Amino acid sequence: MVKLTKLIDNNCLVAPGEKSQLSKRATVADDILPDRQAANEATKENTKAIDALQDALWAEHHRALLVILQGIDTSGKDGTVRGVFNRCGPLGVCVTPFGRPTDEELAHDFLWRIHKAAPKKGVIGVFNRSQYEDVLVVRVRGLAPADVVEQRYEQINAFEKHLHDNGTRVLKFMLNISRDEQRERLQQRLDDPSKNWKFNAGDLEDRKLWDDYAKAYETVLDRCSTEHAPWRVVPADRKWQRNAIIAATVRKTLEDMAPSYPKPDWNPSDFKIT
Ligand code: AMP
Ligand code: MG
Repeated sequence: MVKLTKLIDNNCLVAPGEKSQLSKRATVADDILPDRQAANEATKENTKAIDALQDALWAEHHRALLVILQGIDTSGKDGTVRGVFNRCGPLGVCVTPFGRPTDEELAHDFLWRIHKAAPKKGVIGVFNRSQYEDVLVVRVRGLAPADVVEQRYEQINAFEKHLHDNGTRVLKFMLNISRDEQRERLQQRLDDPSKNWKFNAGDLEDRKLWDDYAKAYETVLDRCSTEHAPWRVVPADRKWQRNAIIAATVRKTLEDMAPSYPKPDWNPSDFKIT
């Protein structure tokens, strides 16, 4: 377990202040997890452990964990939610997807809707997309002036530092898939009737902008991987490797946080239930 998370961090962590070199990063994790069965077993164990740690985090009611999932269409954000948090009781996990902002959201600063969805004490919050859309799709599609986008990187860093300093650990995963894998997954959404609902013609427009998105992601990784909230780039062409990497990292983070059950200020033996 410790060996696995060390290996993951050696491969996936974006060191604060260093160039992320996204184009050189792997989309397959055979160096980390060569064996599918062993990976799935580790994921099973780690998701069980996450559930137990989550229970203590909830009982403690003191701190929170925020897991941010970013990646282009079909990169597996929904699948990660299902594969990593499926054993957690629904009480203490809160998943928030961020789509196109509403008029009300656009009438506020870009972090308004994000801060409102940040997990409260005791909760693991999972963001399916996040504040980073405001420097990704917004930048690529020119939805806000360049100088407005430019100042957001520092604003995001300050916001995440604020969360961290107020008891919320922030974990950020960029799900890194190859262009070929995206083609396959989009094709499946056309071929498989149970996946048709996921198909969105707009995704093809975004696919045409692949290089622009890659550049925008690289800028995010270069500028927003910080000591308090570092980025991990997860090789995500294989779903079982992706889930194994994220489950191991979430478990390790919760173990480091070491939530503990509160001790009562009364003695249980003083009570007799008749
Ligand atoms: P999905 O995740 O497939 O439900 O799609 C959500 C869509 O909302 C994606 O195309 C995102 O790029 C888009 N989106 C999310 N946040 C923003 C934002 N702040 N501004 C514009 N579009 C956004
Ligand atoms: Mg989509």
